[in-house]
Amino acid sequence: MMSIMTDMQPIQKSEAEWRKELTPEQYHILREKGTEAAGTGKYYHSTETGMYHCGACGAALFSSDAKFDSGSGWPSFYEPATPDSVKLTQDDSHGMRRTEVTCGRCGSHLGHVFDDGPQPTGKRFCINSLALDMKKG
Ligand code: FE
Repeated sequence: MMSIMTDMQPIQKSEAEWRKELTPEQYHILREKGTEAAGTGKYYHSTETGMYHCGACGAALFSSDAKFDSGSGWPSFYEPATPDSVKLTQDDSHGMRRTEVTCGRCGSHLGHVFDDGPQPTGKRFCINSLALDMKKG
């Protein structure tokens, strides 16, 4: 069966390729699972309308419609653009049990998801600004 979601064809690149394409700051978040300092990201307070894309591969990840002010210091969304936009994985690093959020298309690290978000989902996708590329519209 032909897939109509050509945007979601998996992307696999070597770390050397990602390093060439991304800034050092983006690379640290997206490929080394880094976390930007709270309150420093350029999208934290953004209320502009549009789509937040993966900063590595450009896949559509989160609509501004699902963005809310969590007070956490990071851009927060209550749902991804589609269920396949992101992949969720248990993350036991740093002495915590969390759920890591990665790009469904290229596997790059985006942030974590928590169960203290608003309705209708009750989820809080806590995402690094440096992992995102917002396109207005
Ligand atoms: Fe991606």
